[in-house]
Amino acid sequence: MSLTLLRNARIFDGTNDGLSEPKSILIENDRILQIDPSESIEAVDQNVDIEGRTVMPGLIDAHFHAYASDVDFVKLEKLPPTYLAQRGRHLMEDALRRGFTTVRDVGGGDYGLWRALEEGWIQGPRLFYCGRAFSQSGGHGDIRPPHEDESLCGCAGRGILAERVDGVDAIRKAARESLRKGAHHLKIFVSGGIASPSDPIWMMQFSEAEIAAVVDEARRRRVYVAAHAYTAETISRAVRLGVRTIEHGNLIDSAAAEDVAKAGAYVVPTLATYEAFRRSGVEDGVPQHLLDKLDEVASKGLDAIRLCRAAGVKLGFGTDLLGPMHKHQRDEFRLRGQAETPFQVLNSATGINAEILGMEGQIGCIKSGAFADLLVIDGNPLEDLSLLHEDSTAIHSIWKSGKVVPLQ
Ligand SMILES: [Zn+2]
Repeated sequence: MSLTLLRNARIFDGTNDGLSEPKSILIENDRILQIDPSESIEAVDQNVDIEGRTVMPGLIDAHFHAYASDVDFVKLEKLPPTYLAQRGRHLMEDALRRGFTTVRDVGGGDYGLWRALEEGWIQGPRLFYCGRAFSQSGGHGDIRPPHEDESLCGCAGRGILAERVDGVDAIRKAARESLRKGAHHLKIFVSGGIASPSDPIWMMQFSEAEIAAVVDEARRRRVYVAAHAYTAETISRAVRLGVRTIEHGNLIDSAAAEDVAKAGAYVVPTLATYEAFRRSGVEDGVPQHLLDKLDEVASKGLDAIRLCRAAGVKLGFGTDLLGPMHKHQRDEFRLRGQAETPFQVLNSATGINAEILGMEGQIGCIKSGAFADLLVIDGNPLEDLSLLHEDSTAIHSIWKSGKVVPLQ
């Protein structure tokens, strides 16, 4: 048993707006044992003076792709998995050093990566994974160019991040296989997307029966379905059929936002990825057709957030970055800050994301019994969100499972 005492910490607990008076946090092994223990604790292994800095829950990124180590998905499919695993490891290590102590992988992340993290072979954020996302043929997860008949990977439509499944029986079987491999949620594409060559954004993907089948499989296994969806029409249909989290959601309207709120579902905006693509552009190898589609959704991201807030939709926090753009993961704070208060953004990245993961009281909070995943910050991010912007050096230390994360 190891005891750590953090003294003089002003706590943001992830759910309530405001910092506490300076308090102590007693950590036993990987979890918080007590906040402000009344008796004076003498025999601790580590006694740390936080000197009045802010202590808040470690950040959670609810839209992450550990294996998206390249912007070019076609190239990615041709690389060996052992090589991609090493690149995935680096993306995970870097995310942890940015303060993300948990990530939800929504396409690609798998049992092998999870197990390597759990057993301590590699260091990274806690991982919640779904395995491959499901796409219909010609849908957002189908990256074959129009002149191509066969699978690029020669593996019957099963790629690194997504697999093609068509029909109710096929999607049921695919869902059961993912759940057998320990998936924490399932992911489907129900509207067109940006990085895929043959589907317009407005396209409604999967039939109602296919979506209902995957929702049924998830529910019976007590997990849930996340759906990539841009348009109001696809968002309303998805939540009506039982989808629990809407990914991106840029083209939502107020009626669809009401539907999401009524269903008790969540929207996970991912503004950082559009901004990163826009900054990179054609000269960095981003194809023109992709930039055209990007314009269609990127400009609507902040409006979508305002519409959701007005309708009372619970908003998560995600980034959806690809390849070298992962370095902009904390840019999401700057972007979200244009439409929301610092508290709303920080609550999304901690308390709300923990709720999405079904991990309330375990992560995304500072309370007894929770994992000791913490950020120590110089200053008060509830007053100044720029302390978390990507270029900020205000993160003084990062703790995961009760241990300090080396920042180099
Ligand atoms: Zn994604």
